[in-house]
Amino acid sequence: MPLRVYNTLTQTKEPFQTVVPGKVGMYVCGPTVYSQSHIGHMVGPVIFDTIKRYLVYLGYEVTWVVNITDVDDKLIVRAQEEGTTVKELAERITRDYLACLDALGVDGIDHMPRATEYIAEIIAITQGLIDKEFAYPSQGDVYFDVTRAPAYGKLSHRDPEELQAGARIEPSSLKRHPGDFALWKSSKPDEPSWDSPWGPGRPGWHIECSAMSMKLLGPHFDIHGGGLDLVFPHHENEVVQSESFTGQTFATYWLHNGLLTKDGKKISKSDPGTIVLMGDLLKAHDSDTLRVLLLTSHYRRPIDYGPSRLGELSRGLQSFLKCFARFEELTGESFYTLEAPTRRGDFDPGTSALLKEIGEHRQRFLDAMDDDFNTGGAIGELYDVVHALNRFANQAAFDLKTMGTEYRTGIVALKELTQILGVFRRQPAAPESSQDQLVAPLLELMVQVRTQVRKEKNFKLADDIRNKLLALGVVLEDRPDGTIWRIEKRSE
Ligand SMILES: [Zn+2]
Repeated sequence: MPLRVYNTLTQTKEPFQTVVPGKVGMYVCGPTVYSQSHIGHMVGPVIFDTIKRYLVYLGYEVTWVVNITDVDDKLIVRAQEEGTTVKELAERITRDYLACLDALGVDGIDHMPRATEYIAEIIAITQGLIDKEFAYPSQGDVYFDVTRAPAYGKLSHRDPEELQAGARIEPSSLKRHPGDFALWKSSKPDEPSWDSPWGPGRPGWHIECSAMSMKLLGPHFDIHGGGLDLVFPHHENEVVQSESFTGQTFATYWLHNGLLTKDGKKISKSDPGTIVLMGDLLKAHDSDTLRVLLLTSHYRRPIDYGPSRLGELSRGLQSFLKCFARFEELTGESFYTLEAPTRRGDFDPGTSALLKEIGEHRQRFLDAMDDDFNTGGAIGELYDVVHALNRFANQAAFDLKTMGTEYRTGIVALKELTQILGVFRRQPAAPESSQDQLVAPLLELMVQVRTQVRKEKNFKLADDIRNKLLALGVVLEDRPDGTIWRIEKRSE
């Protein structure tokens, strides 16, 4: 089954056809870098990273762009609150964002342009839109005139006249129509600003994405992605201004991912209980569990996050870890360093019943991915592959000499499929967070036990405990007010 993708623009699943044969240009709206990444910020990156992995597996050469909005009202307000500059805040938050992407295995982004590096392009498009009378300057601002573009509303399937009817224009507004949106904003004193034909100012949000995507991917590219909350007004405005400027199609396919909810509630800054910072999550959960969470339902549907959901997934993934451990135990090879096909090809099960079963699941996995990147369905097939492999390797009659080749072929097929989802890329670090969290309470407990032992005048046992802990690098120091401990680095 050839790949089909759901296009928000046409509201149908369409066969996937690229502008340039064999190549894909993909643009996904990135973060406005004013606050630390929470799990909601990672939904789009993980989904589109997986989409890129699958397109590469199908043989496409993919260029993926994710922008960073590093100038915006929210950044200006936050920087003032924190007594820092917009630039410093943007750089700090961008570093946090990049660290979260790295931890989740999102490594396919080719360009991460910053809006502030594309001011010249933004000014050129804005001027072009004024020249074509799609936009007008107004006391230092520049607005797009939505009444000049009959197609306005085509992406979000809204009637522009209805949109206008309910809106009232503020008497102080510089706009001609309530639906007009800013391409350029004049800046107030103390705000970051750039010179422009309309005076000092800064770009509007929507125009940034048009400028960066078209500069890096050309005026017509294949996939434009983002969260469902961006369809209107952000993407609607992007498409209308880009197509009005170039006179051609902007993006062929518009893909929108569902948003994350926490225990059924929308994640919102105004409800702090719903914000789960990635930095905190990564301390408590391994990256594969988090990645699987974000891929476990169809990407257009909402994803519900909750501690019980993570626990359930983590327990489910144990069967994978057992499978890899058993493979290593039997063959001496590590699953993590195994070479597996990175391009789609045929799978020949020969006469093996195991490989026939795995081949069927592999086919269903690929059919699910071909059906608008249904990663949830694909993951379901992976569990079946793992169960088949575990059954095979754990049977009493297993004999590596006669059954090793088909077993290994099955494991390689599993690796081929996990690579597409970007999971189990590397051996999970020893559960260091939980171990680290155990050290302090365990040592406290030892100190309490030893204090009791001394009270009971069993000095021999108390000294033994101290000496054995010392041999492990833990120093106990008896002080008048009690015993303290510290861990010394041993020189070996
Ligand atoms: Zn955007």
